[in-house]
Amino acid sequence: MSTLEDDETKTAKTGESTTTARESESGRELLRLNSVDAYYDESHILRDLSMMVKEGEICALLGRNGAGKTTTLRSIAGATPPTVRSGSIRFDGNDVTGVTAEDISIRGISLVPEERRIFPNLSVAENLHLAEVVNNASNTWGRDVEAGGEGMTTDEVYNQFPRLDERRSQQAGTLSGGEQQMLAIARALKQNTDLMLLDEPYEGLAPQIIEDVEDAIERINDTGTTILLVEQNAAAAINLADRAYVIDHGQIVFDGTAAELRSDEETRERYLGV
Ligand code: ATP
Repeated sequence: MSTLEDDETKTAKTGESTTTARESESGRELLRLNSVDAYYDESHILRDLSMMVKEGEICALLGRNGAGKTTTLRSIAGATPPTVRSGSIRFDGNDVTGVTAEDISIRGISLVPEERRIFPNLSVAENLHLAEVVNNASNTWGRDVEAGGEGMTTDEVYNQFPRLDERRSQQAGTLSGGEQQMLAIARALKQNTDLMLLDEPYEGLAPQIIEDVEDAIERINDTGTTILLVEQNAAAAINLADRAYVIDHGQIVFDGTAAELRSDEETRERYLGV
């Protein structure tokens, strides 16, 4: 993992622009949150929150502990609680505000939660198989939304994650933290995923392992999956992202390119502590 300083030094040395190839692409809008207010019972958490994610990009949502990052992802994924009481969420041109988590997932949004939710007593292969079974079952339960497409085949998943391929028969609970994170991401890819919501994928991982997970996220993005990445490890996330939002007390306080956030020392220090 390179730090912000490393990155700046690299740029200074080479004299290159900090704008990456992906930053200069102008993808169409895939996700839009418009003035969203979300609550846990009477606790008003997200306040008039607006943001958007472009197709094909890696977008980071950054902020301190308790700022509202997970609440934002859960609101997008249709997970309850929280409850979205006003505002709207549009995905791929459709209003998905209030749509259930199952139907959101069929439409092509996958949430990889912070706690990873893998089955520790099952093998890697069994975890992946189970993801497929659950996915097929929910698609055939007569829902009134059309499945947007197929997820990756098991071979395609193993191709993306050679480390998991080598450990097919290993119990998931005995994998390293980084490998467990990769398995959680791999499980999400077994379903049709146009937009992947990643909640703190670097949580609890050593810097070297973070690099492996970063590589995996980049590979998935290269296959066409749009990524919304929530992180407290702002330095690592900024290095991977094309654009970034900063959230504080449930409100967006910064939006811009990763390069703009990198050079905005005041925002970084005030809201991110980096
Ligand atoms: P963290 O990294 O600590 O999870 P976060 O930015 O993801 O930070 P959220 O989990 O979205 O923050 O929490 C935002 C606020 O909502 C916090 O004040 C938190 O205490 C509150 N909150 C989160 N979950 C619930 C819940 N189930 N019921 C009530 N309040 C909640």
